[in-house]
Amino acid sequence: MEWTPALLDELRALLGDDGVLTSEAARFTYEADALALERHMPDVVALPRSTDEVAALMAWAHAHDVPLTPRGAGTGLAGGSTPERGGIVLSMNRMDQVLRVDAERMFAWVQPGLVNLWLSNRLAPLGLTYAPDPASQQVSTIGGNVATNAGGPHCLKYGVTFNHTLGMVAVLHDGTVVTLGGEAPDAPDHDLAAIVTGSEGTLAVVAEICVRLLPVPEAVKTMLFDFLEVEDACRAVSAVIAQGIVPAAMEIMDRHTVGLVEAWLHLGLPLDAGAVLLIEVDGPAVSLERQVERIVGIANAHHSRSTRVAKDAAERAAFWRGRKSSFGAYGRAASGFYIMDGVVPRTRLAEALSTIYRLARENGLGAGNVFHAGDGNLHPHVLFDADDEHQQRAALEVSHEILRMCIRMGGTISGEHGVGIEKVPMMSELYAPADLALMERLRAAFDPSGLLNADKILPGGAGCGEAHARGPGDQAAAHAPAQLGGMRPTADGEGPWM
Ligand SMILES: Cc1cc2nc3c(=O)[nH]c(=O)nc-3n(C[C@H](O)[C@H](O)[C@H](O)COP(=O)(O)OP(=O)(O)OC[C@H]3O[C@@H](n4cnc5c(N)ncnc54)[C@H](O)[C@@H]3O)c2cc1C
Repeated sequence: MEWTPALLDELRALLGDDGVLTSEAARFTYEADALALERHMPDVVALPRSTDEVAALMAWAHAHDVPLTPRGAGTGLAGGSTPERGGIVLSMNRMDQVLRVDAERMFAWVQPGLVNLWLSNRLAPLGLTYAPDPASQQVSTIGGNVATNAGGPHCLKYGVTFNHTLGMVAVLHDGTVVTLGGEAPDAPDHDLAAIVTGSEGTLAVVAEICVRLLPVPEAVKTMLFDFLEVEDACRAVSAVIAQGIVPAAMEIMDRHTVGLVEAWLHLGLPLDAGAVLLIEVDGPAVSLERQVERIVGIANAHHSRSTRVAKDAAERAAFWRGRKSSFGAYGRAASGFYIMDGVVPRTRLAEALSTIYRLARENGLGAGNVFHAGDGNLHPHVLFDADDEHQQRAALEVSHEILRMCIRMGGTISGEHGVGIEKVPMMSELYAPADLALMERLRAAFDPSGLLNADKILPGGAGCGEAHARGPGDQAAAHAPAQLGGMRPTADGEGPWM
């Protein structure tokens, strides 16, 4: 489509002059998300302020057959908000308001561009909180979290975004505004809010969200253990849950990660440890001492070398700082790295980690891991030299091999980051053709035009038959972009943590 001045004027009439970005410098920011695997410049960036403006814009895009890609903060790690076909990037950043809080009924209506952490900060004086806490919560938006069904360290106990989304106002491909779910739990519809949650912007644009709120827990205890062998840490995690204890969070940093974090932050983490395990329990104060006692006993039985229980909020924050800075620590050290978020059954964590290290070693690559151990949700970081195309390709192939291992072990290819463009080739390895065909039909029912976040999640459309006909290795190559980038750190290694 040719973007004539007259067409751009039509858009400005809908969104205002400052709601339409067309300069190359402005569009450049929107060409990729945090994956940076593949980059595509949008033709136009639209910045609506209200549901009505979203609807007007989408009706306009529909009338002109323009592809449209929704975007929150762009922290996605699967390429979900990369505008594969150019067209319009619909950025929700100016829709960042808390619309209404009902403290008594414990829900809030928010706009999708609201940053996750801002909501809990706003709720704190009311003694309430919003539970889903992706490690990107300082930056990522509630709309992006809903679209990816984000998880986070505390989702072990509290569940993922889906469990905290009561309803939403969504805008369909042609600008139709619909309300899905509602303020009461379990609306008697076809659970359409649940279907849109996790659909990565392929079914509808989420314009307002009704989130479930919880009381802030009365007390919290945070423990830090260190193990010589990462396998022992993994077994301790399984044993705690097998004993009927469900901590709020169970997070492991392996030796590689501990080394990078310690070199940066000097927190006193043991450099000879195979793994550091952080466990947090929360709830009524009277119940916590006993839980801590039992968890320490289990960790000791699995050869934990030391136990630290945070004495106060400051020490608790210090424990978390190490875990939460790990992403930045990788960013400082590696010129490029590729992050997976495959899931394996908790009981097979130790075996999965050994396989990951072996696969990386055999391909001449480094690998480290920092992960939501309680959920079996791995985050292998496969490291490569960003200027070496051969290494980049090897890293992508190793990463896909890791995901195949997750499938073989009875797990899955993404615990929380989503499929985006990154894992499209893996979908036909995880699902049968009939499963994928049903997903295609669902997508077509919501968006017959196929222009809403096109080419994401499903290997259908042009690539479908091709992907099925090829072998797995070829599939990866078929979808691999000419210019692999992987995750490139910022110059100073700073950035959101994971
Ligand atoms: C350091 C770091 C740590 C991370 N830790 C976690 C973690 O612990 N758990 C986790 O789950 N993820 C994590 N992520 C991944 C990422 O932060 C999440 O996927 C997050 O939910 C994306 O939110 P966003 O606002 O950045 O969305 P974006 O990246 O902008 O978009 C993500 C997807 O949602 C779609 N989308 C965005 N807004 C809307 C909307 N309003 N309507 C419809 N579709 C929309 C986009 O098209 C895209 O497909 C991490 C990422 C980083 C960089």
